[in-house]
Amino acid sequence: MSTATGHSTTVAPRPGTAIGRLDSPLAEKIRHDGAVYTGVEPDAEWAAEIRRLAAERDAVILAHNYEIPAIQDIAHHVGDSLALSRVAAAAEQSTIVFCGVHFMAETAKILSPDKTVLIPDEAAGCSLADSITAEQLAEWKSEHPDSVVVSYVNTTAAVKALTDICCTSSNAVDVVASIDPDREVLFLPDQFLGAHVRRKTGRDNVLVWAGECHVHAAINGDQLTAKAGAHPGAELFVHPECGCATSALHLATEGAVPADQVKILSTGGMVDAARASGAREVLVATEVGMIHQLRKAAPEIDFLPVNDQASCPYMKMITPAALLRALVEGADEVHVDPVTAEAARGSVERMIAIGNPGSGE
Ligand code: SF4
Repeated sequence: MSTATGHSTTVAPRPGTAIGRLDSPLAEKIRHDGAVYTGVEPDAEWAAEIRRLAAERDAVILAHNYEIPAIQDIAHHVGDSLALSRVAAAAEQSTIVFCGVHFMAETAKILSPDKTVLIPDEAAGCSLADSITAEQLAEWKSEHPDSVVVSYVNTTAAVKALTDICCTSSNAVDVVASIDPDREVLFLPDQFLGAHVRRKTGRDNVLVWAGECHVHAAINGDQLTAKAGAHPGAELFVHPECGCATSALHLATEGAVPADQVKILSTGGMVDAARASGAREVLVATEVGMIHQLRKAAPEIDFLPVNDQASCPYMKMITPAALLRALVEGADEVHVDPVTAEAARGSVERMIAIGNPGSGE
């Protein structure tokens, strides 16, 4: 387990966990180095053991597009946060193992309250979701009592419970456009997605929370301009949370890159666009884990990250050892209290009903 000194220790079993422990010959190798679970290589023995344990636990394994390739490849389903939550809700299995960050596993639990939801490491947070707390949102709402609150899916269950409508990056514009133009909108937590929504809807009564994802914010316009210059003819796939989304649109507007080569897309939208693209090269402005699914979807295209350092440390906490531990120990279980879950479910269901929710991150 985690130690204050960061030394590796054998992970102690958790006898008596509510959903029980399973045996595995690999379990004794699991270590925690003070930051992440380690000690297990993602080899064929590991893969076979993961599948065996998942079957024994009646579990379906879901992996976000930003996970490391070994986790994506062992998962039963890979996708973006909303698509995975829908898969979770429709799954026949009684247990969901969500290889992603905590708010995503919470959303799966909100949509599947009767299922057991596990995340391989509950410390896998999200700097964007942490940009706003429920207390901060309550205070912001009190300053704008007649407003409508629109929250991106990268928020905690407690924030969703105070939200009128959730949105994904695919339907954020449709959600805001569906709101009475005379009513003020509080949009949170991502300032770049908020700027995109303001630009697209032309509304000046959309107030945007100044939150950001530190991974996406680090992908900037200068990097994009340099890459676009070095790869003329390449398409640009840009996630709207990126600090460079504005720059991408600016490059298109200025004619530096033809407008039809710039695509502002969610991660799920990127996979669809890759399959449909006839380009030889595509510059990708989002977390680098995305490249693995894009290469699988369109192996003939050369996908190049705009910033190859844009790696989410939280997503990478879902290591092969962490996934093995989750299946062996039945941990870490995700809980959302029923009152919060009920309120949050309403805002998520309104999101699904508007436009094409497509996907989240
Ligand atoms: S990439 Fe950013 S928004 Fe996504 S999980 Fe990591 S910190 Fe959160």
